[in-house]
Amino acid sequence: MTDLKHELARRRTFAIISHPDAGKTTLTEKLLWFGGAIQVAGEVRARKASRHATSDWMELEKQRGISVTSSVMQFPYRDAIINLLDTPGHEDFSEDTYRTLTAVDSAVMVIDSVNGVEAQTIKLLSVCRLRDTPILTFINKLDREGREPIELLDEIESVLGMQCAPMTWPIGMGKRFRGVYDLYTDKISFFDPHADKGTSEVIQGLDNPRLDEVIGDQAAELRIEVDLVRGASHTFDQAAYLAGKQTPVFFGSGVNNFGVQSVLDAIVDLSPRPLARPAESREVAPDEPKFSGFVFKIQANMDPKHRDRIAFLRVCSGRFERGMKIKQVSQGKTMAINNAITFMAQDRNTTDEAYSGDIIGIPNHGTIRLGDTFTEGEDLKFTGIPSFAPDLFRRAQIKNPMKMKQLQKGLQQLAEEGQTQLFKPLASNDLILGAVGVLQFEVVAHRLEHEYGVECVFEGCTWATARWLRGKDEDIRALLDRAPANMAQDGAGDYVYLAPNRVNLQMAQERHPNVQFLETREIY
Ligand code: GDP
Repeated sequence: MTDLKHELARRRTFAIISHPDAGKTTLTEKLLWFGGAIQVAGEVRARKASRHATSDWMELEKQRGISVTSSVMQFPYRDAIINLLDTPGHEDFSEDTYRTLTAVDSAVMVIDSVNGVEAQTIKLLSVCRLRDTPILTFINKLDREGREPIELLDEIESVLGMQCAPMTWPIGMGKRFRGVYDLYTDKISFFDPHADKGTSEVIQGLDNPRLDEVIGDQAAELRIEVDLVRGASHTFDQAAYLAGKQTPVFFGSGVNNFGVQSVLDAIVDLSPRPLARPAESREVAPDEPKFSGFVFKIQANMDPKHRDRIAFLRVCSGRFERGMKIKQVSQGKTMAINNAITFMAQDRNTTDEAYSGDIIGIPNHGTIRLGDTFTEGEDLKFTGIPSFAPDLFRRAQIKNPMKMKQLQKGLQQLAEEGQTQLFKPLASNDLILGAVGVLQFEVVAHRLEHEYGVECVFEGCTWATARWLRGKDEDIRALLDRAPANMAQDGAGDYVYLAPNRVNLQMAQERHPNVQFLETREIY
């Protein structure tokens, strides 16, 4: 195998998705710990705690350095190189999460065994659906009295529309939680919260008398249950998993380290290596020798005064090497990347190169945009990095009108960074911000004040939803004539229809059947 093929085969790039409090941070931390990437479990939690402890979100500002490097966590495990991409959780749930999901090859979904499938899981899953991202499921908190496992599988199947293939099966739950049975290796791991890494003993075989010794009556129950489960559930099918149609399911308790190893092993054994990526003109295979990649996230850097930003680029083919000259296709410009950040936590010798599946951070002053493609020269354009029609709208109201220019510039730049979306109605001078999560507005207000010296407030406004418009010029013009007050341009100059309610939107769509009203737009 060539170097490139070998490196590629080792890469696993994924994100963890969950509803808040299901246990994403805990699992992230335990995966890093089991992978040997952190020495003390607690580092990730400390970061999250400081995020939440302060009502002033902007404490985070001070920690930007940390958050840049912890956005991507790369570590070796067995023969693999794992790239775990952090998605902002909780209130800071935002478009960033959606876009991060375009940069992974698979995802791990954490479900709380007490709460089952929750709202945000459904939302995130619908994003994964856009690309049929393979999903591995971890049902967490088996140490609590939760729902019956079979019921949880049913719920995943019916609500999320994926077949479930249980890989392990829990032995009891809550106070009676004794471990899991691996349906494929016929091994039983006994749970002990006080044991090293949560497991007191592993035995082979469901008929093993040691099983009865350790768990007594529960052994007979388990044997019956396993029989039923084997009959009633789907067998793991690699192809169905890779097609996003089936999810292998593991049970455990993250906070007790239990079941974490199985998830980590499954990522190596089952999850896909870097996949081919669609571009406008062709599909780009990960083992093509020439470098290519796209920017899925922009993050402001440490020093607010300099407006440094880090562009996170997912490598899609070839090999990146420090100092390499690459072309920013949208600008037709070639630049030497000397100061790229790579994320290998431990092995310093390899920090100067990156392969398909890896992420590199490129510092810049705002010249790199979301969705930008970089290549060794070819005019490629990767597709599929979405903007979503926002659910929340605010009108920016400036306190000092003399600062209008700074406000416009600030909002434009923050929109390019993806902090919020910006809409400029054609019929007024309003600046309308659109977001998916409320926290996005807070971030923008803070950054406008601290980075652009503009104080402003965000007021509620009449808009409830937005759609990007596609169609022939004359059809768009007809819409413009008919509903001038609803027409706007977004930060990139694209035409957008703003609607005060669903009925209005529906009527506009009916009246203008030749115009497409798009709920998602790819960033150009
Ligand atoms: P996130 O919001 O999805 O990142 O969730 P966290 O990882 O912060 O977990 C939310 C809460 O659930 C925390 O208090 C954790 O300690 C707790 N938790 C996580 N895993 C388990 C588990 O396996 N069992 C129990 N009982 N609690 C857990």
